Amino acid sequence: MGDFTVRTADRRDTTLTQQAVDDLGARLRGTLLTPQSDGYEQARAIWNAMIDRRPGLIVRCAGAADVMQAVRFARENGLLVSVRGGGHNIAGNALCDGGVLIDLSPLRYVHVDPMGRTARVAPGATLGDLDRETQAFGLAVPTGINSTTGIAGLTLGGGFGWLTRKYGLTVDNLLGVDMVTADGQFLRASADENADLFWAVRGGGGNFGVVTSFTFRLHPVGPMVTAGLIVHPFDKAGDLMRRYRAAAAALPDEAACWIVLRKAPPLPFLPAEVHGKEVMVLAVFCALDEAAAAKALEPVRALGQPIGEHLGPMPYAAWQAAFDPLLAPGARNYWKSHNFTRIDDGLIDLLVAEAGKLPSPHCEIFVGQLGGAANRVPADATAYPHRDADFVMNVHSRWETAAEDTPCVRWARDVFDRTASYATGGVYVNFVTDDEQRVQAAYGANYDRLRALKQRYDPGNLFCVNQNIAPAG
Ligand SMILES: Cc1cc2nc3c(=O)[nH]c(=O)nc-3n(C[C@H](O)[C@H](O)[C@H](O)COP(=O)(O)OP(=O)(O)OC[C@H]3O[C@@H](n4cnc5c(N)ncnc54)[C@H](O)[C@@H]3O)c2cc1C
Repeated sequence: MGDFTVRTADRRDTTLTQQAVDDLGARLRGTLLTPQSDGYEQARAIWNAMIDRRPGLIVRCAGAADVMQAVRFARENGLLVSVRGGGHNIAGNALCDGGVLIDLSPLRYVHVDPMGRTARVAPGATLGDLDRETQAFGLAVPTGINSTTGIAGLTLGGGFGWLTRKYGLTVDNLLGVDMVTADGQFLRASADENADLFWAVRGGGGNFGVVTSFTFRLHPVGPMVTAGLIVHPFDKAGDLMRRYRAAAAALPDEAACWIVLRKAPPLPFLPAEVHGKEVMVLAVFCALDEAAAAKALEPVRALGQPIGEHLGPMPYAAWQAAFDPLLAPGARNYWKSHNFTRIDDGLIDLLVAEAGKLPSPHCEIFVGQLGGAANRVPADATAYPHRDADFVMNVHSRWETAAEDTPCVRWARDVFDRTASYATGGVYVNFVTDDEQRVQAAYGANYDRLRALKQRYDPGNLFCVNQNIAPAG
């Protein structure tokens, strides 16, 4: 028994009595963890091992009622708040030091309405949870490329992946959310209710409240798609990337081809002598039927003489998890990202040069192909504004030990700085790192409207552990 030291929203230490903490615990259906509780260490572990923060209290929510209790408790006591969905955010924004962590990760239901083609999804569900339930009916929502990512944070930032060129961003398929706002009230936001708030959550991150349920529109996909990897020799990367541009531009919306520059993992379809050597990988996807996909992907397959190819029909859900082994939690990670409208010759030369200096075998530069349906939405239709980005580069520095921090972080920053003159200046909010101040670049011309809505829904900035939108005024 004793007092608990916790942190206030203005980052001062304060104390809570045992009685106050016990009272909160008694009001929950879920579990309240303190630093002394069993399970506390597991509950504060997130994907990026660079982030090591110790919340003062962790509310492991069992439902929206627990979220309301946690928000009201934090507000009444002036405490710092963070919100965790899948815990994948590179900046570690799921966690705060000393404050109240509202942990939604126990909430993982996915309810599919196959006739109405919608899904209602809990805020702790992963992309894998969603794909598993929707694919049982041959349906899907466009999401991201790693099945352990949380649907909550991904959606609130925008969300893009293999189906984006055909069906838009994840937010373009969001029909509504239930949420708890900073005053502890529960409300619904959709095109018909609280439409301004619905606009803001489609890209505005966790700035406007805690989403307790997402409703998505579903599309027929698969269950079989055509997907796989084409691996080329690194010394041909510059030439291949130049020719990639025309091949990528000719792809139908159902298809996408991403570039990955990295050291070859020990994949069984690659000769052993290539393992651990730099390669250029084309990650290829097509949701058309098998014959149409083979035809559509022909220009990409004809780009050069690959070292190895593993491409063909496979379950959509399997492709969605194909990169999981390279992206497992627990490693140290640092990212830098640019958006591009085109891939210039000078950019290609820089990318190839920088990929020749990978500081760890786990580092990579990937260039994801967007465009298609995602870019046919007006930039002011949702808070996510980057409807001009045809390519998103993520310099994904990843390594194992703290001793490697300095060279691995420096490499990512160098690639970012050297390629900046080719970029739009905008950035996908979900790729912004802990030490970056790029909120205005993330929201562009939508930033002022977001600030006004932040002032309306969270004037005291209770939800500040995120890429924070300052309340107007
Ligand atoms: C390996 C890997 C691969 C990725 N691939 C892609 C990709 O292909 N496409 C893509 O678009 N993105 C991708 N991302 C980025 C991903 O979208 C972000 O990391 C996203 O923040 C993850 O969401 P989360 O719920 O797991 O994260 P968390 O860290 O739990 O949360 C992220 C942010 O959202 C807030 N938040 C979470 N849940 C809620 C909620 N219910 N209500 C309010 N706020 C909330 C948090 O407070 C935090 O600020 C990838 C990330 C990783 C690590």
